[in-house]
Amino acid sequence: MQIEKNNQINRLGWIEVICGSMFSGKTEELIRRLKRARIARQKVEIFKPGIDKRYDEVNVVSHDENAILSTPVESASQILLLTNDVDVVGIDEAQFFDNELPAVCNTLAAHGIRVIVAGLDMDYLGKPFGPMPELIAMAEDVMKVHAICMNCGDLAQFTHRKVEDNHLVMLGTTDTYEPLCRRCYYEKMKQQGSGQSS
Ligand code: ZN
Repeated sequence: MQIEKNNQINRLGWIEVICGSMFSGKTEELIRRLKRARIARQKVEIFKPGIDKRYDEVNVVSHDENAILSTPVESASQILLLTNDVDVVGIDEAQFFDNELPAVCNTLAAHGIRVIVAGLDMDYLGKPFGPMPELIAMAEDVMKVHAICMNCGDLAQFTHRKVEDNHLVMLGTTDTYEPLCRRCYYEKMKQQGSGQSS
C-alpha cells in the first residue's frame, strides 16, 4: 500500500456500512455512492470476495445491472496490498470476507480513505453474518436497507432459504432465497423445523 505517499495522510477517513437482507438494494446503494464520488473526480476502487462468481468476474453487478468495475480478492488483507492512491474504497458482499476485514477497514480509514462496506447483516438462519457485526459496531454511519416481504408485502429484513441445504455459504438468486419480514420468516422457519434437524 503506497497511500502514505499521498497528501491523504492529513485527511480523515471513515467507514460507512450498508446492510440488509438479500434483494434490499445494498449493492445499488453502494454503486450510487461510488458513482457520486467518481463524478467529484475522486479515485474509487472496489473489491469483492473471490467466492462471489454469480454474475461477473470483474464487475460489481447489482440486480439492475448497474455495473462498476471491481477486483475479486481471496482475503481481506489483499485489499491493503491492492489499494493504491485512492480516495474511496468500496467493498461488496462483505459478509463473505474473513475476520480480518474490520482491521483492514480501520487501517484504510486511518490513512484518510472513505470506506463503504455493503453486506448481508444476517445469514439464512437469522444470525449475524461473518465480519458484519464488528463492522457495524465500528462504522461512523450505518444504513439498513430493506426488501419487501414476498409473503405479505411488509418491510423485510430476513433472508429465507427456500431449499434445504445446511451450508452457510450458498450463492443463489430468487430461486433459492426470498426476503421475508420477521413474522413470515419465523413462521416459515417453524414449518421447516419440523422437517429439518438443524
Ligand atoms: Zn411478511
